[in-house]
Amino acid sequence: MITGTHIAYLHTCHRKLWLFAHGIRMEHTSDIVAEGKLIGETSYPDRSKKYTELELDGIKIDFYDAKNKVIHEVKKTDKVERAHIAQVKYYLYMLSKNGIEGASALLEYPKMRQTQIVEWEEGDEALVSTYIQKATAIINQPHCPALVRLPICEKCSYYDFCYSGEE
Ligand code: SF4
Repeated sequence: MITGTHIAYLHTCHRKLWLFAHGIRMEHTSDIVAEGKLIGETSYPDRSKKYTELELDGIKIDFYDAKNKVIHEVKKTDKVERAHIAQVKYYLYMLSKNGIEGASALLEYPKMRQTQIVEWEEGDEALVSTYIQKATAIINQPHCPALVRLPICEKCSYYDFCYSGEE
């Protein structure tokens, strides 16, 4: 099952996508998840009262405003990334597939005190379908994609795994 995390990793690092999809997790990952959760909880302490957690076909959307049909996705980075937009487009795709039309998403960056609205636009269905196909093709590769040095490597939870053989 493809999740929003898979789609986000498709847009950051194919090797990371493959490792994650094959159940390889590094300790550090849980710290990042915990930190992300903490940012959500401390920045928006009342949101659990306002929003519901939505589970659809194996994906989980933490904060969904059912009344206004808005997905709220909190990010801890200090810049808006293409991967974040792709991830919430995937959520909008899944909502649409489950009969919830006309939804939108709000990416929230508490560190920057900034938000970005992501709408469902014409052509997005085909676009997200290609994301799913590409992610599935990478995951189904028998071997982990080769290491490609990326600027994000140093902050990646798989850093030690990927670079352990290097000087
Ligand atoms: S350390 Fe770099 S190459 Fe390895 S999974 Fe992370 S981003 Fe990808």
